[in-house]
Amino acid sequence: NQPSPSYRRVLLKISGEALMGDQGYGLHPPTVERIAQEVKSVHDMGVEICMVIGGGNIFRGLQGSAQGMERTTADYMGMLATVMNALAMQSALEGLGVFCRVISAIRMDEVAEPYIRRRAVRHLEKGRVCIFAAGTGNPYFTTDTAATLRANEMACEAIFKGTKVDGVYDKDPNASDDAVRYSEITYDDVLVKNLKVMDASAIALARDNDLPIIVFSLDEPGGFRGILKGQGTYTIVH
Ligand code: UDP
Repeated sequence: NQPSPSYRRVLLKISGEALMGDQGYGLHPPTVERIAQEVKSVHDMGVEICMVIGGGNIFRGLQGSAQGMERTTADYMGMLATVMNALAMQSALEGLGVFCRVISAIRMDEVAEPYIRRRAVRHLEKGRVCIFAAGTGNPYFTTDTAATLRANEMACEAIFKGTKVDGVYDKDPNASDDAVRYSEITYDDVLVKNLKVMDASAIALARDNDLPIIVFSLDEPGGFRGILKGQGTYTIVH
C-alpha cells in the first residue's frame, strides 16, 4: 500500500449500523465498547480524534418519509438518533478513561455542548475526543456530509471511514469473488463509477477541499491503529 503520512488530527466516520453488532436494530453495548477500544488505541498514540457517527441503526429520514412522514421532521428524528449513538460512544470512551465531548449541531444544552468551532478545536488540543452529533443540523443532508464538513472545519488531515470491508472495490466483494480492491482512487472516479464510499455531496466537498478519505475495515481488530502506523489494507480516495 501507499506510504502513510504521519497524522496529527483525523476524523473517524462510522455508520450507526456499525454499533448494532449482529442485531437488526439499535445499540449493542459490547460492539460500542470494542470500537471505543479501537479509538482509544489511536488516542494513545497522541493523535487528535474527531468522530461522526450516523444514526441508521435507529432511524433514517428517508425511511420515515417513505412511510408517509413529513421529510424534514423525519430527518430531525434521524439527527436525534445520531445524538443517542454519540452519547453511547462517549460513555464507552469515558469508561476506558478517554476524555470526550459530545458536540451537537442542534442545541440541547442539558445533553451535549453546542457546536462552537474554536471551543471544539481547544478540546482537541487538550486531547479530548470530540464526537460531533446531530449531523450538520440541517435536513436533506447525511452524516457523511457532516463528517466532511467538520473534518474541514477542524483542519483534519484525513477522514477515516470505518466500514465492514477493507476498502473500495470495483463491485460488491460480498457478492462477487472477483471483486478487486482499489489501493487508491480519485474523487471523480468514485463519483463517475458511482462507488458506494460516501454520498456524492460528501465526496464533492472532500474533493473541493483536498481532504483525503481513507476507507478501511473496522471489523479488523487493531485496524484503525495499524493504518495510522502505515500498515494494513485500505483504499485512499484523493
Ligand atoms: N440527517 C440529517 N442531516 C444531517 C445528518 C443526518 O437530516 O446533516 C438525518 C437523515 O435523516 C439521516 C439520519 O439523520 O437519514 C441518519 O444519518 P445517516 O443516514 O447519515 O446515518 P448512517 O447511514 O451513517 O448510519
